[in-house]
Amino acid sequence: MNEIKPQVSETLLKYPYKTRQNGATVTVFVPYNCRNHCPFCINKEEYAHPEGFSVDKICDSIRCMDAITPYCDFVFTGGEPFANLKSLQQMLDMIPATHKIYINTTLPVFEFQTADDIVAFTQKNRNKITCINVSRHMQHYVVESNDQLLTRLAVPFRINCVLYKKYPVRDMVPYLERFYRIPGASIQFRFDYTETTPQNLYDTWDDKILHDLKRIAAYTGLDGCRMRCGFHFDYKGMELTYHKTLPYSTIVETDKTNGVTYGILYDILIKQTGAIHSDWDGTVMDVEKYKHVVYEPYDLKWIERCGQHQSHPIMTNQACAVM
Ligand code: SF4
Repeated sequence: MNEIKPQVSETLLKYPYKTRQNGATVTVFVPYNCRNHCPFCINKEEYAHPEGFSVDKICDSIRCMDAITPYCDFVFTGGEPFANLKSLQQMLDMIPATHKIYINTTLPVFEFQTADDIVAFTQKNRNKITCINVSRHMQHYVVESNDQLLTRLAVPFRINCVLYKKYPVRDMVPYLERFYRIPGASIQFRFDYTETTPQNLYDTWDDKILHDLKRIAAYTGLDGCRMRCGFHFDYKGMELTYHKTLPYSTIVETDKTNGVTYGILYDILIKQTGAIHSDWDGTVMDVEKYKHVVYEPYDLKWIERCGQHQSHPIMTNQACAVM
């Protein structure tokens, strides 16, 4: 692996883009808010100023990205994608079947939306949605709907849990026990990505979460790439991953074969206004330049595999939003 340099947004524009086969993941920020206040959220501030938010402009940008990379993954995040099912449907309908679609959500049930409405939405979109990533943190940062709803979803789902600062270690086993009985459940624990650096991304020595997990679940392997990694575990037959990702989506790297320095894109963002960004820090993407992007094989690979659990596929989707 070549040396990884943290990206510096103002210098990125001068580099040609490179990305993986099929294109960078396109993360769509829905133009409406959630009702939660997670302490690690960096999007809340943005949703406080909804001027210029537009479903139509987001749809235009989805069409644009589909035209450039017709096989890329899309991730819907927020805010709360399931807070407005009509608008979410409008955006999903823009995406041809060549793409995988992931949705980050808390599965909100409120006065105008029942669990039945959510179930009906998943039934209607069962051929569109690849997986729903449901936020259920050990500390109760989000308003939760009943776990029974998980058993009724018509599409695959995964539980996402951010282990933030001094998370309650003693609650880990009860947390796992809560979900492992639910058919189809898998869990992804997530390191606070604002704390991730190139130095600690693959660190195993000082990683407290990793040590805590190894005490309660069977370690089965590690996959990863320049940008992110996943430590895999088995808990009583339930797939468990511990995910770490860097807090930016572009890596500047010089290709040793031709001496060219590229801005390598892992995630592209469609903002609430439809603006297309190449990083989480407000860097606007040069769409014309992306039309001439250079492709490389995806560098996500198994780094270590052990135990009897050789059949777990690498999770190709690595939704990066904080949910
Ligand atoms: S992390 Fe997600 S659910 Fe939590 S406040 Fe932010 S947008 Fe809302």
